[in-house]
Amino acid sequence: MRTPMIAGNWKMNTTVTEAVELVREMHHGIHSQRQTESVVCPANICLQDLEAGLDAISGVEKVICPPFVSLAAVREIIKGSSIKLGAQNLYFEEKGAYTGEISPLMLKELCDFVIIGHSERRRYFHETGDIVNRKIKAAQKAKLKPIVCIGESLEENEAGNTEQVLSGQLEAALAEIKGIGDLTVAYEPIWAIGTGRAASGEIANQTIGFIRRTLARLYNDKTAQKTRILYGGSVTPDNTVELMDQPEIDGALVGGASLKSPDFLSIVKMAAEIKG
Ligand code: PEP
Repeated sequence: MRTPMIAGNWKMNTTVTEAVELVREMHHGIHSQRQTESVVCPANICLQDLEAGLDAISGVEKVICPPFVSLAAVREIIKGSSIKLGAQNLYFEEKGAYTGEISPLMLKELCDFVIIGHSERRRYFHETGDIVNRKIKAAQKAKLKPIVCIGESLEENEAGNTEQVLSGQLEAALAEIKGIGDLTVAYEPIWAIGTGRAASGEIANQTIGFIRRTLARLYNDKTAQKTRILYGGSVTPDNTVELMDQPEIDGALVGGASLKSPDFLSIVKMAAEIKG
């Protein structure tokens, strides 16, 4: 059995003060005083549903990934709760003269998860398959759990090359890695990220089915069946039910909607109801 996961990738958003405020709301819920002020309730969710915070929702692993500089402050707030913390990146060396980088050993004191190979890092910071592979190995060595992102561009999708691109990215990411352990894969079609144009439940399910078959080819069926595979790309409260209803989809990596506490709480709540 795979434990479903909803992970929020805050990207380069929130100051430390804002991150603390946002995580407080997610943790403790949104209470009536605030509700009467300005909370816009997402579809299918009533105000009472937002009163119980993330900690009260069971059956789904809940992970938030704020910027590096907020990890310590956010960690203090969620201490003792069931909410887990992740980083958005790491460097593959343990320490040394790598100005500005953050090592797996540094992260290990602060969080359990780390996003690796996000398409924004591949695109803007030129992360290759080899770099992604080195980062996964470094994370595993430090006992951090990687959330590894793969996904095709619009051109690749329209040219009918989605499967070829995804299997190539997976093979590169997992090269020489004998056991994938706690690794989670996130299928994030680039054309769906931040565009408001999510993949349909059917397409996401089919593609994640292909990713699972690729894991079975690279490892074995047991590994493929136990590996969690998320969908990411414009997930909102409006499309959560359609996506989470799919058998191959084990949860979501959420960008934009993870910055709005009512939306993130709603997505987690719906996922827990369907998958939990
Ligand atoms: C992401 O960047 O991981 C992501 C899924 O973003 P969004 O939900 O905003 O499309």
